[in-house]
Amino acid sequence: MNSRLLPTLAGYWDGAFRSVTAQPTFDVVDPASTEVLATLPTYGASEANRAVDAAVGALAHTPSLEQRRQWLLTIERELLGNVTELARIITAENGKPIAESQGEVNYSAGFFADAARQLTHLESRDLPITAKGHRWRLHHRPAGVAGLITPWNFPMGMLAKKLAGAIAAGCPTVIKPSELTPLSSIAWFTLLHEMDLPKGFVNLVFGDAPAIGNVLCERMEVRVISFTGSTGVGRLLATQSAPNLKRMSLELGGNAPFVVFDDADLDAAVDHLMANKFRNAGQTCVCANRVLVQDGAYDEFVTRASDRIRSLVVGPGADLATDVGPLIDERARSKVASMVADAVDRGAVIAVGGESAPGAGAFYAPTVLTGVNGSMRCSQEELFGPVVAIERFADEEAGIVRANDTEYGLAAYVFSADADRLERVAARLHFGHVGLNTGTGPTPEAPFGGMQQSGLGREGGLEGILEYVEIQTCPTPAAP
Ligand code: NAP
Repeated sequence: MNSRLLPTLAGYWDGAFRSVTAQPTFDVVDPASTEVLATLPTYGASEANRAVDAAVGALAHTPSLEQRRQWLLTIERELLGNVTELARIITAENGKPIAESQGEVNYSAGFFADAARQLTHLESRDLPITAKGHRWRLHHRPAGVAGLITPWNFPMGMLAKKLAGAIAAGCPTVIKPSELTPLSSIAWFTLLHEMDLPKGFVNLVFGDAPAIGNVLCERMEVRVISFTGSTGVGRLLATQSAPNLKRMSLELGGNAPFVVFDDADLDAAVDHLMANKFRNAGQTCVCANRVLVQDGAYDEFVTRASDRIRSLVVGPGADLATDVGPLIDERARSKVASMVADAVDRGAVIAVGGESAPGAGAFYAPTVLTGVNGSMRCSQEELFGPVVAIERFADEEAGIVRANDTEYGLAAYVFSADADRLERVAARLHFGHVGLNTGTGPTPEAPFGGMQQSGLGREGGLEGILEYVEIQTCPTPAAP
């Protein structure tokens, strides 16, 4: 695709874009049209090793906090100054509506603004003790080279969380985006290249994911692996990294319950469901996967939600009228279709949609399934599509048990007019993010992450930076 932010279609290491013409190549495809947007070199272990070497070279000088603050604020400014073009690239390679892509760029910029604000917490300080007759000084040291591996569903947002934390901590990075959506990272590197970052401080490779992942896990100098993606790949990276005892930040899959009690404001609950569920055509880790509605509200909720979902406009993300874009590819559409078929086989009823939507890309109609239960795949696995699966429950205890009936623990949502109940239920849910009368997702200023099989660590806020920090304490004899 033509873009002023894509003058060179290549990876980047040691301070320059690197064309590798001898490599095999892969195509980046527009999910709305299936047209080829770009053909890129497939990098593997040798390029990943060169990128790690460059990052190791950048470790020689730890940037000051003031230097890091300037870089973070420059990146924030560059993102905000290029929202339109970056959003066009995200929509082209990911398929999401253009307004969502613009929101993603703004959201990405927010991580750099917040990280800049958090830097005061990284200043060295004396602990308020004189234990063992010593003064105790505490420093926040960069953990070392960080390997950042990101998915296709938020090609900029998921990288922004990691890169802001790593830069704030002073860590050089090797970045590996998904081969489905590498163009927004390349565009971002066009902006980074114009900055005064030291050679090797930021590096970009893509292509053969297992080969690149293996290098990042096996190289001892890579001290942090920060990965967002599926639980299966997260486990694999943790296993590969175990011999080197790396810090792991794993943002993995979810299976979010969206629990609506009888006393909830149903119009508000439906509004929040619409905003939460259909973002990126339902391909988000935090979107409602199991909509659990109490008996007394069930029929009314189904009716109101179905009316809204029927009116959604499906189409290419670049079309301003579009509410729901295509799924990322045909494989994703087949998976959604097979989960809907499985639910119907086990007794669910299709109230809306339930079929592919017309168009060259992998479009799927916004769908409502009713009469869902825990035996169905759509209750056990991430749907990752525009399908609202609704299940009924009898009382508070049953709602909590069903909500917790998953190995995942990323996001959950609870709707009720009773503030005591909201507190009570939240305290029993094993999820890292619990929206109370809201379907809102993460924000740069607050730490976000999963419990159980949804991962380790947090992104955003000060906690997101500390993932890349080693604490060093220096005792020295106190003056008598
Ligand atoms: P994925 O298949 O696990 O891929 C994620 C990244 O890992 C991609 O860059 C992929 O590269 C790479 N990868 C795949 N196999 C690898 C290997 N053996 N070694 C190293 N890297 C490897 O996940 P996805 O399908 O892209 O993303 C969807 C998943 O991400 C969902 O489960 C979703 O819930 C989760 N997610 C979680 C969060 C969160 O905050 N917890 C946020 C967003 C998404 P290639 O694409 O190039 O193969």
